[in-house]
Amino acid sequence: MEWKESISLYEEAKSHILGGVNSPSRSFKAVGDITPIFMEKGQGSRFWDVDGNEYIDYLAAYGPIITGHAHPHITKAIEGAARDGVLYGTPTKYENQFAKMLQDAIPSLEKVRFVNSGTEAVMTTIRVARAYTNRNKVIKFAGCYHGHSDLVLVAAGSGPSTLGNPDSAGVTQNIASEVITVPFNDPQSLAQALDTWGDDIAAVLVEPIVGNFGIVEPSPGFLEKVNELSHANGSLVIYDEVITAFRFMYGGAQNLVGVEPDMTALGKIIGGGLPIGAYGGKQAIMEQVAPLGPAYQAGTMAGNPASIRAGIACLEILQQEGTYDHLDHLGKMLEDGINDLANEYDIPVHTNRLRGALTVYFNVDKVENYHDAENSDGDMFAQFFRSMLEQGIHLAPSKYEAWFLTTEHTEKDIEETLKAVKQTFSKMKS
Ligand code: PLP
Repeated sequence: MEWKESISLYEEAKSHILGGVNSPSRSFKAVGDITPIFMEKGQGSRFWDVDGNEYIDYLAAYGPIITGHAHPHITKAIEGAARDGVLYGTPTKYENQFAKMLQDAIPSLEKVRFVNSGTEAVMTTIRVARAYTNRNKVIKFAGCYHGHSDLVLVAAGSGPSTLGNPDSAGVTQNIASEVITVPFNDPQSLAQALDTWGDDIAAVLVEPIVGNFGIVEPSPGFLEKVNELSHANGSLVIYDEVITAFRFMYGGAQNLVGVEPDMTALGKIIGGGLPIGAYGGKQAIMEQVAPLGPAYQAGTMAGNPASIRAGIACLEILQQEGTYDHLDHLGKMLEDGINDLANEYDIPVHTNRLRGALTVYFNVDKVENYHDAENSDGDMFAQFFRSMLEQGIHLAPSKYEAWFLTTEHTEKDIEETLKAVKQTFSKMKS
């Protein structure tokens, strides 16, 4: 495969755009610092780069593209929005319609607000939780990414009883000292953190099913325990469902696990590929938000008709009968195929999958928390990634990311992918 044009565009990009990419995860640093591929167009489960190479896409733009590229129903919605004018700075009927759709799908959203990204959604839930509880600190779980606002760019201290450290230059120690990080699936550490920091804790922020060190499900009873311990302490529970909502079923992961948080942050899929975020929760908590309450949150682009109309169209597609069975069927076919080939070629692979999302880890027996994911073999993943790319299979360029299937993937796509996996494992073995 030739990547001449991508290489030349990347060189040009580097002289204008810091690092040549507008989000660090798009660089291929974690897989050997090779040139990221510049895409030109996408259709369904596939996209084509500027050199004319075709790929089966499992990146799905890090999650939002669950109905595949250029889905005609979403394209029509965006065209409609473009024709009618994309921004008025006034409310529109589409916001009502979409808010209602989200509430019907995720009943804990007694009230919602639209913002422009997952980062904004999570950031605002924390502000509102602090306003509601009159407390300052937040507990989060190691390895879970919640966007790039200061409070969530905080790394763990040396245990549940210690405060966090900045995980990015520019985040102050003061901010980091508002955050405690504990391991996922470890109720004892959460209990210890809540005991230590007691009525300083405004909220416990959790991805109900982790999507950011691969797909990791909560152990049985873990989320129930998160609610029980947090509520006993007077703290709110916030679910970051930016990845998980509408990923595994029509609704949130909270519907799937049967546990309701006090607040929820949304993003990605709900914009049908256009920029969006949303947050919501219990009426009494949401009433903290301006114009009703003292917690400020605003946005020139918030609830813009293009994103909202694309989001409505996306959910309409996902509502169709059989959508999630299709994703599950293809996910299983992919997982089984990878595991069989790993056995055949004696490659130490461990897969975590839930319906249409999976992660392939190398050289670990299980992944239940971030520590396990960290221990997986990055060099083997990089070798796997590069060989798959050369065969026209585009994965996310990090051992921590998931493969996302879309409604447009087919059995033929999976068969082609497994051929590439076979070829790759046979190379890795030799
Ligand atoms: N929360 C989770 C779970 C995410 O995975 C992400 C992004 O990957 C975010 C929040 C931030 O969303 P955005 O990139 O739209 O700001």
